Amino acid sequence: MQNTIIKNLVILGGGTAGWMTAALMAKVLGKTVQITLVESEQIGTVGVGEATIPPIINFNQALGLDEKEFLRETNGSIKLGIQFEGWSQPGESYMHAFGNVGKNFPFCDFHHFWVRHCQQGGRDSYWDYSLNYQAAVQNTFSPIAKIPNTNLPGISYAYHFDAGLYAKFLRRYAEEKGVKRVEGKVSDVRKNPESGFVESLVLESGQAVTGDLFADCSGFIGLLIDKAVGSEYESWSQWLPCDRAMAVPSASGERIPPYTRSIAHACGWQWQIPLQHRTGNGLVYSSSHWSDEQAHEALFGNLPGEPLAEPRIIPFKTGHRREQWKKNVVSLGLASGFLEPLESTSIHLVQSAATRLIKCFPHRGIRGEEVAEFNRQSRVEMERIRDFIILHYKANQRRDSDFWRACEDMPVPDSLKEKMELFRSSGKVFRDFDDLFTEVAWQQVMIGQGIVPADYHGIADGLTDGQLADLMQSLKTLIQGTVKQLPPHEAFLSRK
Ligand code: FAD
Repeated sequence: MQNTIIKNLVILGGGTAGWMTAALMAKVLGKTVQITLVESEQIGTVGVGEATIPPIINFNQALGLDEKEFLRETNGSIKLGIQFEGWSQPGESYMHAFGNVGKNFPFCDFHHFWVRHCQQGGRDSYWDYSLNYQAAVQNTFSPIAKIPNTNLPGISYAYHFDAGLYAKFLRRYAEEKGVKRVEGKVSDVRKNPESGFVESLVLESGQAVTGDLFADCSGFIGLLIDKAVGSEYESWSQWLPCDRAMAVPSASGERIPPYTRSIAHACGWQWQIPLQHRTGNGLVYSSSHWSDEQAHEALFGNLPGEPLAEPRIIPFKTGHRREQWKKNVVSLGLASGFLEPLESTSIHLVQSAATRLIKCFPHRGIRGEEVAEFNRQSRVEMERIRDFIILHYKANQRRDSDFWRACEDMPVPDSLKEKMELFRSSGKVFRDFDDLFTEVAWQQVMIGQGIVPADYHGIADGLTDGQLADLMQSLKTLIQGTVKQLPPHEAFLSRK
């Protein structure tokens, strides 16, 4: 326990993590805590991170942002899911579409009925029953909460946005709410010699910025969480073999697809994130299997338009800080750990860490129990997302390179192994308490990667053959009919 009353919060870093944290803290804690953000334009930000997942909508709503203004200011677009191309086999693809698939029955998810339908010779794809998928591939969108005239959920969505513009947008918001911004490069960190708690950040100019609690949003360097208080980094590279990315923006095609593309290559994978004014592209690869020249060739051989800048190389190490909160330093964003952007989870992790920090906020002094709980929740959250990402690699059937063969052969964490075995044998999959990804997300990735369940829940036998056929046909017709009524994605973006 440190008895200091927390009145001054200092955030180091003005990337997506820094400004998201500043904006949310200012909105919720602004009346009780003074917030200062230090950033260095000279150092800049990582400059990538443009695809999100649906909880971002809650974040923007919590701030009270207007969606139209947000999309306009960030050149944003709608994201209905991620299309995985060539991940199970070259030439095959599937989507992790947000939202529901089909119609869930009490105690029994829809996919059990679909498995029975397939076992009886049905040929429909699982995604024939996904409203999000059908809307995505037909380039349509409207934020409908329900399928009209039914109780079935409508479309679930997230955003693609220009990360630099989002940070600027949030900066304006946070400064209006009283956050003080200090420009400058931190060259020294002063600590209390007895407790080891950080007391101030010293800038190159000599200015000292003092605080009671420090949010480390300094990016991969982890200037406070690593260099100042020494929280150890646990690597997960034994399961996630990629350690490098090459990023380049390009001109867009004529349409703006409402989904992210993740395209598998011989030794890694490529992302395409369509924005209103350009497409964000990058290749994530393993430096033990591919040189930068090989990565360049793969990436530039498959751009949707002219490159708009020189490519940038970003080395990374997958893993996380064992203690995301240590002493009076809480790390958020890249400073706290990194999972490759396969399921667009990093920005979400900032959102959830900032929310957790608010819930545990130590107004009346830092208590060990709160710190321990914060760290426990952070670890569990990261481990579950980690397993979901490993699944994509482990369940590949490509076998066309040493890279993919090694992924298929690697031992995976027991938690994932058990989930895969259960699904393979019974079709059952469970969302652990607090798991970010729902059962439907796990089902889609497992089925998409070629894990076909050998069995299904007996409840699905409660329908006669005729009732099952009617159910499948009526759902398909309902979804197709709904998608036909939706406007083009571009029309939604250009609405006044
Ligand atoms: P940064 O953007 O690096 O910001 C660090 C800040 O700290 C900067 O303002 C810098 O100036 C400041 N700073 C550092 N040192 C000092 C110093 N000494 N003095 C003063 N200031 C300092 N996430 C997603 O959710 N979706 C994606 O699609 C996605 N794609 C990604 C692709 C790649 C290749 C990578 C590497 C990451 C991706 N991410 C993605 C993650 C996402 O980019 C980050 O989570 C997000 O941008 C937050 O970064 P950050 O703010 O922690 O760090």
